Amino acid sequence: MNFEPSEKVQTMLAMIEEFLQEELFPMERFFLHEPFKSLLPEIEQARGRVKQMGLWAPGHPEEYGGMGLGLVDYGLVSEALGRSPLGHFVFGCHAPDAGNIEILYLYGSEEQKARWLRPLVAGEIRSCFSMSEPEMPGSNPVMMETTAVKEGDDYVINGQKWYTSSADGAAVAVVMAVTDPEAPPHRRASMILVPTDTPGFERVRNLTVMGHEGEDYMSHAEILYHTCRVPQSNRLGPEGHGFAIAQERLGPGRIHHCMRWLGICHRALELMCSRAVSRTIAPGRRLAEKEIIQAWIAECAAEIRAARWLTLHTAWKIERLGWKAARQDISMIKFLVAGTMEKVVDRALQVHGGLGMTDDTVLAFWYRHERAARIYDGPDEVHKLALARSILKEYA
Ligand SMILES: Cc1cc2nc3c(=O)[nH]c(=O)nc-3n(C[C@H](O)[C@H](O)[C@H](O)COP(=O)(O)OP(=O)(O)OC[C@H]3O[C@@H](n4cnc5c(N)ncnc54)[C@H](O)[C@@H]3O)c2cc1C
Repeated sequence: MNFEPSEKVQTMLAMIEEFLQEELFPMERFFLHEPFKSLLPEIEQARGRVKQMGLWAPGHPEEYGGMGLGLVDYGLVSEALGRSPLGHFVFGCHAPDAGNIEILYLYGSEEQKARWLRPLVAGEIRSCFSMSEPEMPGSNPVMMETTAVKEGDDYVINGQKWYTSSADGAAVAVVMAVTDPEAPPHRRASMILVPTDTPGFERVRNLTVMGHEGEDYMSHAEILYHTCRVPQSNRLGPEGHGFAIAQERLGPGRIHHCMRWLGICHRALELMCSRAVSRTIAPGRRLAEKEIIQAWIAECAAEIRAARWLTLHTAWKIERLGWKAARQDISMIKFLVAGTMEKVVDRALQVHGGLGMTDDTVLAFWYRHERAARIYDGPDEVHKLALARSILKEYA
């Protein structure tokens, strides 16, 4: 297999690099110090320029206004965009909209696609994904308390969710709710589209995550659904297929996340090296001359390279054989890349000393916000157990 980017992707990557240098890296200073909403007008302008360059929504379907890149090509783009925390949002391929767009494309009715898919791809509205509950283990989501009960032509939804990322300002929530409590566990729940202005949809608060409440796109909400009534035609896909659709959303989604995390790794390593060669720690002696720092740099570079090949190989396998054939690989990359990113960001921060703890570089932001990578979309331990079980089957 050959992961050499095509000419088209190489051109895109060069344009993205220029855009990062000229537009996004300078914007980060404000992003790290000002409320997110105050930056939205500038972000809108930057999005306009991305659209003019023809680079908008690289991974989304062409017929809905995206570029329709395949998983490997989009992975390379995602890696490039991951070097800035603003990259994916400004280029219209950010989570959780990216995953919701994918399932709307695959399972949405024509009416749902016209109402939500088209404006989501265009970046005119935002969405959120409302599955996790505070009183139930997200690592075993078949344990779910939220219900959607049929009444006439409607579903009436009741339940409490949290970590509904980006719900603040979203137009629509994809809600997982139990529609048949008597069905086998994996057939109990369905996905239902709930406009956030529906009576009974209450955003209780944005959670404080590592000391930051956030706002708008950059937030994670607790939501109460009380007697929240929507037409049954808002169900996405067949009844009882919620978990099957969620799995389909998570497979490619993990490639997107891993490639974005690798972008973070590249930037953190660049910052680490730049600081090491510029910081004088004794007269005439720079940090880069210390063997312990050199060893960190070498280890980080090797670990990033290994994680990158494994992720690209997984994307390649999903493209050719489907995500089910790549189950083991997906589990591997999920914990491997999240752990690599955590280590690389931590070491880069350490090399920056006190500066690393400030928001004068992007490292402290990633240290706070990307710790969650080892928890969401399946905690490390769940992936390790699944992988080990699958390997051990061959020995049973
Ligand atoms: C920043 C962030 C964003 C998120 N965004 C969303 C979102 O948009 N939508 C949404 O629905 N949810 C979202 N989540 C929720 C996320 O999916 C859950 O936090 C995750 O599934 C883990 O569930 P839990 O928090 O209930 O942990 P639990 O299920 O209580 O697990 C706690 C810990 O126990 C350990 N553990 C769990 N199971 C096992 C096991 N079988 N063996 C050994 N150890 C185990 C793991 O270390 C795990 O971290 C987000 C979470 C975070 C932190």
